[in-house]
Amino acid sequence: MTNSVYIHIPFCQSICSYCSFTKFFYNEKQVDLYLDSLKKEVQEKYQGEIIKTIYIGGGTPSSLNITEFKKLFEIIKIFKLSDNLEFTIEVNPESIDEEKLKLFKINKVNRISMGVESTINENLKYLKRNHDFKLVKEKINLIKKYITNINVDLIYGLKNQTLKDLAYDINNILSLDITHISTYSLIIENNTYLKIIKEKNIPEDLDYEMYELIINKLKKSGFNHYEISNFSKPGYEAKHNLVYWNNLPYYGFGVSASGYLGNCRYTNTLSLKKYFAGNYLDNLEILSDKDIISYALILGFRKISGINKSEFFKRYKVNILDLYNIRDLIKSGLIIDNGTNLLISYDKIYVENSILINFVGE
Ligand code: SF4
Repeated sequence: MTNSVYIHIPFCQSICSYCSFTKFFYNEKQVDLYLDSLKKEVQEKYQGEIIKTIYIGGGTPSSLNITEFKKLFEIIKIFKLSDNLEFTIEVNPESIDEEKLKLFKINKVNRISMGVESTINENLKYLKRNHDFKLVKEKINLIKKYITNINVDLIYGLKNQTLKDLAYDINNILSLDITHISTYSLIIENNTYLKIIKEKNIPEDLDYEMYELIINKLKKSGFNHYEISNFSKPGYEAKHNLVYWNNLPYYGFGVSASGYLGNCRYTNTLSLKKYFAGNYLDNLEILSDKDIISYALILGFRKISGINKSEFFKRYKVNILDLYNIRDLIKSGLIIDNGTNLLISYDKIYVENSILINFVGE
């Protein structure tokens, strides 16, 4: 049963220096064609289940104008929505306004995710973002008039950034009094402006110190560290993202969107031209039982609370302790068995990827 929907809006008004996502410059004509195609894709694939989480990401969904949002919300009406729906839209500070927020509220949007990234002007310029922290404060206050469940994205590990700078960013973000914070260490990816100008990632020991600083400051301020990079006030964990980490199915609609339905994981085309022509699919991965279990472990261990052993057995009909080299990882202290759950030892969270590699393939 699929109860979750991801919709990708790939349009942006400007391009950030670190961005490796699929995105295109905002263009009214293309947005119109895009929404027509999106509607067709939803009508073709959606099987009529009750939808409990919707996440509209990008790109910059808030780059759409009011008329375009109205068209998008008409598409959302195709879904049967749960009374307990979590409905998130990503916004940028410069393109969200009161008129859009009123429309969001009427259309059941109840969670906003804002790309803040930094609160220091010099760093925002380096990232090629078009806002400052004054605008962020204004827009967060405006959003709170309509929607109070708000996530803010923070990027760290920038060139020349000091621990003091990061502490300043965290304090500013905490002063916004929001419910959720997602953190990202800046990785210089191929095909980004930062790569072209030959920027390098910061040294790993500094990256580690920054990660520790984030954890300490956010935990002291009442945030629960519930996934490697995500922190929430109690009860405000992102339900949609938990669908991914719990290896549950979800629809992915739009250019470059990924989905997980039945025993298939798929990624849509990266080409607008193909998408407009109704050729949505780019890649289809048919999963064996072993693949499904591998995903369940790699995604499940991202949660700080780890994987519940009896739920795992109920769902996959195997004892998690018998899989891969899990017993050895427990003996070596990398994985903890607390009786009900298996979890990555908290002091090894930073090197989590080197542990998860054990669960790839055979
Ligand atoms: S980071 Fe987000 S807002 Fe910036 S260019 Fe990429 S998709 Fe657009």
